[in-house]
Amino acid sequence: MGSGERYLAVREHLAKVCAEAGRSIDEVRLVAVSKTVGVADAADAIAVGARDFGENRPDGLLEKHEAFPDVQWHFIGNIQSRRIHDIVGTATLIHSLCSLKHARKIDEIAGERGIVQSVLLEVNVSGEESKSGLAPAETASVLEACESLPNISVRGLMTMAPQGDADAARRTFAGLRELREQLLSHLSDDEAAAFTELSMGMSEDWPIAVREGATIVRIGRAIFSPDFTA
Ligand SMILES: *Cc1c(COP(=O)(O)O)cnc(C)c1O
Repeated sequence: MGSGERYLAVREHLAKVCAEAGRSIDEVRLVAVSKTVGVADAADAIAVGARDFGENRPDGLLEKHEAFPDVQWHFIGNIQSRRIHDIVGTATLIHSLCSLKHARKIDEIAGERGIVQSVLLEVNVSGEESKSGLAPAETASVLEACESLPNISVRGLMTMAPQGDADAARRTFAGLRELREQLLSHLSDDEAAAFTELSMGMSEDWPIAVREGATIVRIGRAIFSPDFTA
């Protein structure tokens, strides 16, 4: 099986999980995380209909965006200050914002370019030390500060779950959903209407995330790694 066929198999599985959860597949965006493969594999997925891709390094983002400017490129990796100018505008959505300093720089560069950059706040719901992201308790104040930046639109939240523990993953995803609901009270009606996304779930745990309300799943190995079995 090539990447195109594996993409279609994941898509079919996603349709089934959505149906079982009483959700429409149109509510869940499948982001194909192409960070470990080259443009040929991305082309295979595009050929069968993939339109959303994720990259975790600015160089990969720039290279693949240049090769395929007509699909959506999501930035899901660690943000470095000096590479923000490469990400703003190239990424349709930045999933991994977790510092106010970076938010200000994104806002400044987006303003210079006359665009509004969509972002998600990354939250470390599980509290694992190895994970980046805002602590849940500090998210409200960072969100409020971001809402005062005119060239950023905060579209929701992102998290990563602990690996290899389905119950911990479920609690993490439910925690992100509940945090989003709590944060709505800090937002104006317009801000709340834009604050809809829950980016959660990867190759090993996305069905759990879909059942807990994910609106975006980020799937890499299940699509691009021939050896991957769930
Ligand atoms: C690599 C990566 C993914 C995809 O992980 P897989 O296990 O390959 O599906 C999702 N989100 C982030 C932030 C990643 O870095």
